[in-house]
Amino acid sequence: MTALILDLISPPQPGLAPAPAGKPSLAGLDRAGLAEALAAVGVPAGEAKMRVNQLHHWLYVRGAASFDAMTNVSKHLRARLEEAYTLDRPEIVAEQVSADGTRKWLMRMPPAGPHDRGAEIETVYIPDESRGTLCVSSQVGCTLTCSFCHTGTQKLVRNLTAAEIVAQLLVARDRLGDWPGQEAPDGAIVPRDGGRFVSNVVMMGMGEPLYNYDNVAAALKVMSDQDGLCLSRRRITLSTSGVVPMIGPLGEDINPALAISLHATNDALRDTLVPLNRKYPIAQLLDACRNYAGLSNARRITFEYVMLKGVNDSLAEAKALVKLLKGIPAKINLIPFNPWPGTQYECSEWETIEAFSDVVFNAGYASPIRTPRGRDILAACGQLKSESQKMRARERLALEAEAMKKLAVEAFYAHGADEA
Ligand code: SF4
Repeated sequence: MTALILDLISPPQPGLAPAPAGKPSLAGLDRAGLAEALAAVGVPAGEAKMRVNQLHHWLYVRGAASFDAMTNVSKHLRARLEEAYTLDRPEIVAEQVSADGTRKWLMRMPPAGPHDRGAEIETVYIPDESRGTLCVSSQVGCTLTCSFCHTGTQKLVRNLTAAEIVAQLLVARDRLGDWPGQEAPDGAIVPRDGGRFVSNVVMMGMGEPLYNYDNVAAALKVMSDQDGLCLSRRRITLSTSGVVPMIGPLGEDINPALAISLHATNDALRDTLVPLNRKYPIAQLLDACRNYAGLSNARRITFEYVMLKGVNDSLAEAKALVKLLKGIPAKINLIPFNPWPGTQYECSEWETIEAFSDVVFNAGYASPIRTPRGRDILAACGQLKSESQKMRARERLALEAEAMKKLAVEAFYAHGADEA
């Protein structure tokens, strides 16, 4: 294999510095937030709707990063906005680019107060031929402690605001040149089908999105506003470890594609892999899934199943999985475990994963083996953890060496990737 690891620590990007204390950014706000901001600088109520539409268009259709760009807004209003606000995005602290084009950004949110250094989160971009998927974080750290998940070892710092969730999409589109009239940076891997470089969003980054429901729901509404960022809700997937009481409201309110981190077929094992299961056991979780709004064969629920050697990967468990999901329009994503330093688990053998997949497939379920992406930059599933808790260099080198060996095997699976 040729050079597999590209670690780029990018210089600060224009317009991406954190907002100075006391001067908030409008980037990521919804229409109500923009209306409040305009009222605060004296825009009369009679003009508010028109001005909100203008700002909204410049922010989310054109990707404006400065008030100067807003040529149909009067100079006087632009000056007032400039005095009171910025359009700053979160600061990019580091950007890493994998050999397969996956990009991971470590972003720092503007400080919330004088003693706050700014929360750090990670966002990952995964390009394919016909789609570009952005994996977005909803919390800084996570309260849940799924035992196979690297992020779960980082304590919850706080929930992200709706604007901070939306801003991750803005940063990605800025860095990829994904706004009208822009182009992708030289050498960047992006979809070449003429569509947008970020065509899909998955709420699968750091945190449990249904534990930050209000902000996540508000952010998804901004992302799917057809006069703005215009992502189809069919192209937004929310993944939950099983916060049962919020699954119904999510379906009624936003109705994104739903993914469930299942990983086990019995409560005893799931209690150890996904401790939230002790509160909401499998039977309750699957009931909520059966009742999810709009569920049909055309809108199946994705069940994620991480393949852990000797833990949950037997053929008996494959059969139990099929039995458990009977009657639910479902797709089962088999995820080869992504190792991280200090984990007790190993990835199942490829032959085992294939045999497991065959059982599920023969029972009539799509069972793609998800191609691990960005392993060389620790950007794959369950590996996200902000650099505020850095791993030791030796551990990282060992992990990268492991990833390099496995890339050759993974290439074999490239065409069996999931259809997120
Ligand atoms: S899998 Fe998701 S919910 Fe579980 S610890 Fe990791 S980030 Fe949290």
